[in-house]
Amino acid sequence: MTPDLPPYHWPEPQWRAAVDRVRAGRSLKPRHWNDGARCAVALSFDSDHETNELRVGAQSIGRLSWGQYGPRQGVPRILRALDRHGARASFFVPAVSALLYPDEQRRLVAEGHEIGIHGWIHELNSELTHDVERDLMFRAADTLEQVSGRRPVRMRTPSWDFSPSTLRVAREMGLLYDSSLMADDDPYELVEGGEATGIVELPVEWIRDDAVYFSMNRTSALRPYTPPEGVFDIFRREFEGAYDEGGLCLLTMHPHIIGYRSRIWILEALLELVSRHDVWIATHAEIAAFVKAEAGL
Ligand SMILES: [Zn+2]
Repeated sequence: MTPDLPPYHWPEPQWRAAVDRVRAGRSLKPRHWNDGARCAVALSFDSDHETNELRVGAQSIGRLSWGQYGPRQGVPRILRALDRHGARASFFVPAVSALLYPDEQRRLVAEGHEIGIHGWIHELNSELTHDVERDLMFRAADTLEQVSGRRPVRMRTPSWDFSPSTLRVAREMGLLYDSSLMADDDPYELVEGGEATGIVELPVEWIRDDAVYFSMNRTSALRPYTPPEGVFDIFRREFEGAYDEGGLCLLTMHPHIIGYRSRIWILEALLELVSRHDVWIATHAEIAAFVKAEAGL
């Protein structure tokens, strides 16, 4: 490796090695979904809560209060919407959020939702050594298990930040699936260095994430530029496209972003739309297990 060379002088083995580190392998899109449904819908909520502030080492009381809005108002509103439609979802929870709000995690599990790993304090994996990342992943899984009573089988890297060690650690932990990468719309098998891993990827995308449309930076010119109606329109088209193709529609939302009075209707309207179609709404773990079994993996 010659990391000091500019990329236009990299020898072919160097750029090939970078590309081959973690790749999408075979598609795991099934012919039919569970019970013959035409399309699968996976709703995920990343319970970042106060780790949005703590992860960068900051301690602003104002921003921590914004984090507290997630568990106080966001999660209860989300759960009411899901309950109204009998829908179950996946919540990705940093260990620090789980320790701050253990009752919330127990309630999620009791209501049939799943809880997945989302780092220790929402750290960025690509800034960590292998040993530190491994230690935090194992401790995060142990913490979620102690708090919720269930061992997580799934992972979403904080900020979808995937380091060169992330997949190795996930394989060592025996995780069923990851949901942090973007090589497809539909599930696929992760390949590491040319070797099929048996780990299912349930792909995400920034366009199917509420945060990119609604986040703002108070001190810069960055403001939300898409109205709630625009976000609903994008999510609706993502669903309708998945329905046409018989694929997967996976959305990522956040309690402290979607949970407001002027936005929660997006989730309600989506659930109403989806419920009128021949669709399987399931947790990520159920979808990953289903496509894995269908593919004979
Ligand atoms: Zn997050």
